Amino acid sequence: MIPRSLPVVDQPYPDESLFGFVLRMCQRNRLAGMTWLLGQLGRRSVTQLGEADERAIAHLFGADPVAIERLVVRGRWVDGTQHHWAFGHQLTRPYLLRLTRPQWCPLCLANGGYARAAWEFQLSTACHLHGVTLADQCSGCGRRQRWQRTSLYSCGCGASLSDARAERAPDAALEISAWIARRLDGDATAPTERVAMTPVGPWSILAHGLSLDGGMRLLYAAGLRRDAGHRVGPGEARAGLTTLECRDACVRGVARLAVIQHAPSEEERRHLRELLHLPALSAIAADGLERADRQLVRSLLEVGLGVPTSKGRFAGGRDNAQLELPGV
Ligand SMILES: [Zn+2]
Ligand SMILES: [Zn+2]
Repeated sequence: MIPRSLPVVDQPYPDESLFGFVLRMCQRNRLAGMTWLLGQLGRRSVTQLGEADERAIAHLFGADPVAIERLVVRGRWVDGTQHHWAFGHQLTRPYLLRLTRPQWCPLCLANGGYARAAWEFQLSTACHLHGVTLADQCSGCGRRQRWQRTSLYSCGCGASLSDARAERAPDAALEISAWIARRLDGDATAPTERVAMTPVGPWSILAHGLSLDGGMRLLYAAGLRRDAGHRVGPGEARAGLTTLECRDACVRGVARLAVIQHAPSEEERRHLRELLHLPALSAIAADGLERADRQLVRSLLEVGLGVPTSKGRFAGGRDNAQLELPGV
């Protein structure tokens, strides 16, 4: 049975993670976090939460149901692939999100801060406000965190998540993270806060007009492989990519895309064709959500890499499920 609203009630921040809000509010009410909430709702896991639970969460914490609904990342099967919708953006590949393996900015969480929705995106690997790489491992016990924990601010071992290492993020990772946050929050965050740590570099120019989905797929296809022989194995895929692996993929992706854009030599093109995931790029050229996604990737393939694309061969979207990045 759902109890009445709790003693301490509040609204979520416009760019707050829903599960982060739940943990934050549980803590202010001195309750045992997600475990307590799931018990109240009769659920075993955060992955089971549905629309009725979202209304119950709004009721419990005295929040506007519309504000809560805005934070929900909703999944739906489309032609055999699980798509998600987050903050009005469609995401056509599940690996673009990390909904059950939270990462955090140690500096944002210091002094009672909140978990940001942008951190639920796999390629959001830096805090654009503090300029540091996000953490996904406890500095005390080394464990990766889950949402099913007691406190937003500490690990089950007792260590504070604010104590995790906060090292300066590479510019490319910062730029991509700021781009994701900007696309998500629109005008929700104060402009001075939003631009504080945002470098304008090659990605901002390249990504202009791309969908969030298309831009992130492009980065994955360009940067995921460490070298030509790198294959993501099944074990690695099950565990999910770490924040640092994704950060490095962002840096490689931006650097490789920059080479493609600046008239690469034939030798460079040959090397890039080995490094980039060409089937994944071809899939974007065929079924990218926005026309800009398809056009940019087609031109990168044809003009930049010398790879012919066939509109007919990949047309239809439905046939592209097998063209996803392997094992991710
Ligand atoms: Zn931060
Ligand atoms: Zn720990």
